[in-house]
Amino acid sequence: MVPYMGESDETALSFLKKVDLSRFNYPFNFNEITNYLDDIAPGQPAIKAAIDIALHDLWGKIDRKPTWTYFGSKPETMPLSSYTIGIDEVEVVKKKVEEATDFKVLKVKLGRDNDREIIRTIRSVTAAPLYVDANQGWTDKEKALDLIFWLKEQGVELIEQPMDKTDIEGNAWITERSPLPILGDEAVQRFEDVEKARGVYHGINIKLMKSGGMHEAYLMIQKAKSLNMPVLIGCMSETSCATMAAACLAPLCNWCDLDGPFLTTNNPFKRPYFIDGKYALQNEPGLGLEMMPDSRF
Ligand code: MG
Repeated sequence: MVPYMGESDETALSFLKKVDLSRFNYPFNFNEITNYLDDIAPGQPAIKAAIDIALHDLWGKIDRKPTWTYFGSKPETMPLSSYTIGIDEVEVVKKKVEEATDFKVLKVKLGRDNDREIIRTIRSVTAAPLYVDANQGWTDKEKALDLIFWLKEQGVELIEQPMDKTDIEGNAWITERSPLPILGDEAVQRFEDVEKARGVYHGINIKLMKSGGMHEAYLMIQKAKSLNMPVLIGCMSETSCATMAAACLAPLCNWCDLDGPFLTTNNPFKRPYFIDGKYALQNEPGLGLEMMPDSRF
């Protein structure tokens, strides 16, 4: 759970105590279940996602089918997954890039005054395609646009959340002129935000910990497609449980940024199967999660 979303162990446990799924005769009617969870309390998308993901895993286990088959996903359309290089000192950035050998695309967090220096540093160690996440960090739209043109020359392929999510005019101004796709992330949480993002961003970043789980994320992907908006499926700091759930939907998306299990040190599950820079969907029933032998769970 990410602190800025206002969730904690305490809020999650107190939410769970209010949930009674025995009221449903059929536990896989996700529209009804999503509405029921939203009626218990607004917000709290991560604990709602936990329930939704557990039910999707169970659904597949009962049917003896991999969960990804319910969404019409095809393993062969799985996009490459990027790996995030956080903002840090130049030497640390260099070291992180050199360690990320399993990944064929890198995501770079920008939004400070040394953006060009960070990109030049990364370019001194790799020619891999880059995704840039400005994390609402740019405050001057004209400067941001200049930078985006320069970033395109540096092999950057997309830009996430250039300006503050409340600056609709600034983000829309950049989107109209940008030579690279501009994606809304912080501005897009749940289904109703997809329509609001139209005209402000080219596309959207969906995360299960914002959408409240796989069901709503799937509806958001369908909605975005109907509006001709491309989709990046991303993650927070997550274990294999959440990113393997997101990977079930990733073949329906244009880009994938599911590096959580590769950046966490307390993952109770084995790492996802990852081949040639992509998640490799398996044929195990449900999500196919495997516990680490020394897991305390
Ligand atoms: Mg982002």
